[in-house]
Amino acid sequence: MEDHLMKILIIGDGEVGKSTFVHRYVKGKFNDQYRMTLGVDFALKVLQWSEKEQVRLQLWDIAGQERFISMARVYYKGALGCVVMFDVTNKSSFHHCHNWKQDLDNKALLPNGDSIPCILLANKCDLPERAVSADSIDEFSKANGFVTWMETSVKENKNVGESMRRLVQEIMLVQ
Ligand code: GDP
Repeated sequence: MEDHLMKILIIGDGEVGKSTFVHRYVKGKFNDQYRMTLGVDFALKVLQWSEKEQVRLQLWDIAGQERFISMARVYYKGALGCVVMFDVTNKSSFHHCHNWKQDLDNKALLPNGDSIPCILLANKCDLPERAVSADSIDEFSKANGFVTWMETSVKENKNVGESMRRLVQEIMLVQ
């Protein structure tokens, strides 16, 4: 069995659903109780990638912040992939994705100097009150070098495992 270890960062504004996403992905449950993340949360998920390959994902979920903050370099160190998440009902959380992605690209690079694979997740797509259109997400995702973007609902378990598989697939390609 071949074993891959991947450090993956989950970044984005506070309350967009990062902690519940990690919780759902790792434990398979939706945690609907608001919990302010204190410091850096770290979760482990083992993924059977193929018959011969196993991937151990270290998921780093940052401290709950209302707004964008520049993260310490040490947090980015050794990261191989990243999830930038926003809330589709919250326009400013979408606008801040630009800052999050720039901070990432300034501080986390692959050994060859390329930026690390990063996926953009539009969370809470189960809610009716959308504030960001699919067209603007698509345009932003292409202009800012994301692998792709996907709508997710951690609440309804939509695209949680799928988005992580897509990211891991991209990481495997660039390794
Ligand atoms: P974080 O600060 O980014 O880690 O956000 P949390 O994971 O703490 O989530 C903030 C709030 O959004 C919590 O009350 C969650 O239950 C809720 N939430 C997370 N994902 C979804 C979702 O897909 N749909 C809905 N409706 N609520 C969600």
